[in-house]
Amino acid sequence: KQTTGQGDNKIGKNDAEDDKKGTLFVVSAPSGAGKTSLVRALLERNSNLHLSVSYTTRAPRAGEIDGVHYHFVNRKTFERMVAENAFVEHAQVFDNAYGTARKTLRQALNDGQDLLLEIDWQGARQVRTNFPEAVSIFILPPSLTELERRLRDRGQDSDEIIARRMAEARSELSHYGEYDYLIVNDRFESALAELRALICAFGLRRATQKQKFGDTLDAMLEGEA
Ligand code: GDP
Ligand code: ADP
Ligand code: 5GP
Repeated sequence: KQTTGQGDNKIGKNDAEDDKKGTLFVVSAPSGAGKTSLVRALLERNSNLHLSVSYTTRAPRAGEIDGVHYHFVNRKTFERMVAENAFVEHAQVFDNAYGTARKTLRQALNDGQDLLLEIDWQGARQVRTNFPEAVSIFILPPSLTELERRLRDRGQDSDEIIARRMAEARSELSHYGEYDYLIVNDRFESALAELRALICAFGLRRATQKQKFGDTLDAMLEGEA
């Protein structure tokens, strides 16, 4: 739709074409690549960006809080939620089930907030199918050796679990081609700056800016501001 006609030049805060809700970001990475650390650092400085708290059947790690890091539920509850269609996506990762609640997504996006999902490639695929406008980002480790070192240094998982996660890492990596953006997490600060720049750029899209500044733009066009 063009707005070339005379008297048809209102930017219009509620122009249907640009009636844009929050942006949905999907971040995936092999376990240990640093996505949780990067996302945490990102959220500290970006108030319009919210993190979706997933449901999982995995047991909490030391220091993980129910409702903050995950909603920890048992199999039975998880399966009931699947049956009730409560998830926009869910997947089996390693030995556990993980899922994103439909409610979380609807609430954030309707409130005009950006929402970030930290999910595996299977979930990312489901989200892309249902929300083609979602922006997907894949975080790469600089090498497999470094990945294993990080998993060990994190000190949260047993040797057996680390071995499983390393085996899975290559299969997760093989899906990088399905993502819109790739970030290599070699130097943490560089990777963080790249992630910030990416998310900042999406906030500058015309539709988003019009939501924020539509009234001012209209006033300027009327010569009133
Ligand atoms: P970490 O990535 O090593 O910190 O391990 P986690 O146990 O936190 O996550 C395990 C896997 O589950 C990762 O691949 C996550 O991306 C994935 N995951 C977490 N939450 C969700 C979710 O809500 N949906 C899907 N599909 N995957 C998830
Ligand atoms: P994920 O959520 O992808 O499993 P984490 O964010 O838990 O990964 O990071 C895994 C470990 O690697 C953590 O101990 C974290 O502090 C460390 N780490 C993350 N990014 C870097 C980096 N660029 N350089 C060195 N260590 C890192
Ligand atoms: P961890 O058990 O180490 O916290 O997470 C392992 C993997 O599960 C990570 O790669 C993470 O991205 C994935 N994951 C976490 N939450 C979800 C979710 O809600 N959906 C899907 N599909 N994957 C998830």
